[in-house]
Amino acid sequence: MQLKQALTDAVSRLTGENVPSPRLNAELLLRFTLDCDRAYLFAHPERELTADELTGYDAALAERARGVPAQYITGHQEFWGMDLIVTPAVLIPRPETEHVIETVLQLADKTNDNLRVVDVGTGSGCIALALAKEFPSAEIHATDISPDALEIARTNAARLQLDKRIQFHQTDLLLGLQPQFDFVVSNPPYVGECEADQVQLEVRKFEPRTAVFAGATGLEVIERLIPQAHVVLDPGGWLVMEISGTITDQTKNLLRDWSDVELIADLQSIPRVVRARKSRC
Ligand code: GLN
Repeated sequence: MQLKQALTDAVSRLTGENVPSPRLNAELLLRFTLDCDRAYLFAHPERELTADELTGYDAALAERARGVPAQYITGHQEFWGMDLIVTPAVLIPRPETEHVIETVLQLADKTNDNLRVVDVGTGSGCIALALAKEFPSAEIHATDISPDALEIARTNAARLQLDKRIQFHQTDLLLGLQPQFDFVVSNPPYVGECEADQVQLEVRKFEPRTAVFAGATGLEVIERLIPQAHVVLDPGGWLVMEISGTITDQTKNLLRDWSDVELIADLQSIPRVVRARKSRC
């Protein structure tokens, strides 16, 4: 079968299975199967696919049709210009999370060569890796309670040659970390079980539950993280954390003893990141 035909068939199959963006998914999975870029697909519409390629493409499409996110099939996701490995052991990094990096870039004192940063619940390592890239002299720590997630984060660090830059810790949030950080950054689990039916089925079914859901209300992890961040931050240090629009008021309330509390909206004008400073006195 020719490439062009395989692509057309895949688009109708995914459409029939109600997969969102069927064309995009069909192209992405064909590129994955053939290990080629998008331009190749358009330059070689008449290229015959081998039996093995067709079998591989069929298997990838079947996975996608049953709801597996494309990133878990291809094993890759881009974040802050970096190609990251992802498996079902880690949350798929989202573009919104890049607002955490932008916020740190705005707040950080560029003249401080000894910046100390900790990323809590690092998952794939996306936030820690982006900050290691942006701040070449900073000391970066990353924690996760899941050993499987930490293994992926370490793999990503090694692939990007940033492994010497990040110290990984398997722990619950910040337990066991020594104080004197300038930044605590995190994209913590913040979805409540009570709002589970508003979460995409694919997320609920395939992404690690503990990375998405915090507990009944969604505040359970943030409630523990805020006081722990207060302990490890230096006076004047910043907490920069991703949140959702549904918990902004409660989060602000939990930060009532902090200074310079501000919400940062994402491109859809939904509050997405909160920043707060540990008071100097
Ligand atoms: N820090 C990772 C991310 O932002 C993982 C977050 C998580 O597992 N809640 O994608």
